[in-house]
Amino acid sequence: MTARRHGLGGGGGAATLGPLVLNAISPEERAARLTLEKVEAENRLKEAEARLREAIEELHFRQTGTTDASSVALSGRHPLCQHGDSCVANAVGSLCQSFLLAYGVRVGIGVLLRAFKLVKKRPYSVLDLKLLLSEKDLIVREEACRTGLLFGGFTGMFHAIRCILRRTRDKETPLNGFVAGTIAGLSVLSLDDSSRRRTFALYLLARVGQCAYNSAKAKNKFHFWGSQWSHGDTLLFSLACAQIMYAYVMRPETLPDSYLEFISKTGPIAKPTLKAVRESLRGGPIDIVALSAFVLKRTGMPGPVGLKPDSLIIPCSGVHPQTVSCLAHNSKATRATFRKTFPLYLSLTFVPYVVLNIQKFMHSPIRTFWNAFKSASRSTCFLSAFVGIYQGVICLQRNIVSKDHKLVYFFAGACAALSALIEKKSRRTELALYTLPRAADSLWYILVNRHLLPNIKHAEVALFCLCMGGIMYYHEHEPDTMAPFLRGLITRFLNRTGTPVLPPALSYPYVSTSNSTIPAQKDKSQPDSGKVAEKLNVEAFQGL
Ligand SMILES: [Zn+2]
Ligand SMILES: [Zn+2]
Repeated sequence: MTARRHGLGGGGGAATLGPLVLNAISPEERAARLTLEKVEAENRLKEAEARLREAIEELHFRQTGTTDASSVALSGRHPLCQHGDSCVANAVGSLCQSFLLAYGVRVGIGVLLRAFKLVKKRPYSVLDLKLLLSEKDLIVREEACRTGLLFGGFTGMFHAIRCILRRTRDKETPLNGFVAGTIAGLSVLSLDDSSRRRTFALYLLARVGQCAYNSAKAKNKFHFWGSQWSHGDTLLFSLACAQIMYAYVMRPETLPDSYLEFISKTGPIAKPTLKAVRESLRGGPIDIVALSAFVLKRTGMPGPVGLKPDSLIIPCSGVHPQTVSCLAHNSKATRATFRKTFPLYLSLTFVPYVVLNIQKFMHSPIRTFWNAFKSASRSTCFLSAFVGIYQGVICLQRNIVSKDHKLVYFFAGACAALSALIEKKSRRTELALYTLPRAADSLWYILVNRHLLPNIKHAEVALFCLCMGGIMYYHEHEPDTMAPFLRGLITRFLNRTGTPVLPPALSYPYVSTSNSTIPAQKDKSQPDSGKVAEKLNVEAFQGL
């Protein structure tokens, strides 16, 4: 009704009748118009406010971008960065945390081994802190610092270089992780012994090989014939052990010193006997005087009876002079190995777990200890069985034939490796990938010695760097190809605890894919982290 009236009035004479018309509208219409005007005004105000905010932001960005770029570089973080704090704080914090973790693990193992040693001598002396911790007996400081620098240097450098790459390239691609990992690999220089660096480099090479193989297999590109067979890992371990145990008897100089020391200490065959075996196999005269001195020292009687400088085999009386029966000697050697290695395995299982998962340990200390105890017992059984079988094959050969042969030591190593079946399935691959580089190490030495491989200085550092780049690539982009143990370990060291992880501000298509792997990785790393320490043994702290 009101509209019609308004229309009629306007049709009569709009210019003169305007005020009349205005007066003529009803109070309801006036109220509606006022509300409309109010809403429009409010909208305009909001628009202006938004524009003002944009302008202020732009002004702020321009100012900081032009006048104080250096302070932004130091205090800010790139939109692609997922760490909560600034890039510098993240890199320095990671360096410190990884250094402390690695240092703590190494010192902890040293202290626990020292405690076992003291308990063996006098049980109560372990309570004497001076005896337990004095610098005189606990020589781990330098090695712990070097281990800390290796881990801390790597994580710190890795984060720093990756942030620099993000800033300079302004994008995140697989190349960033690879380049950062490769350059950060230079932290291996913190180890002063080149043979140790070589061992680490070859160990990583085996790991990269594992990732590449798993990746190719998953993409259906390539796989070994019979790769579905569930004992492939034991076979690989067996082959590596055959080469190592052969080198132990015939070419000990090809094995890294620390590793040879470990085998000699754990193994049942004394050094003078090994030397005599080598001499007899090479057809040279046997050093009867040295062997007799050894037998005399062990038994108090001269021997071995009937041995001549040109004997074709060293009899059992030269291998284990103190025990007549081969069976008795085998069981004695097995038990001795168990006693000797159990403290080592327990320390290597328990300490890394406690240091790397302190919160979980505080939550259930007894269960943690019990798990470490079970795992260490199983590993010690494996090693004892290894020694027992190796010794058994050698004694058997001496009881059957009258002429020694090199290949027996190769064969004995392969047989002894079957003891890996005692270990958990997941540990067998770890064992194979741990021993394989040692075998490759021995091969590397022989090839360089025969000038088949050039002896380039620091070649092992370059190899380590490249492998580390590869490992970081697989860790970020194809984490499923990596062994859970290694993936958990890297995640533990790279992700600093106590800082929030932010989602990246920009949504590049690439970032979204890498982002989707991160939660999966983190989820998996949680249950894995228990296993991490369980599996973190000699390979992380070799030379023990
Ligand atoms: Zn950053
Ligand atoms: Zn024997």
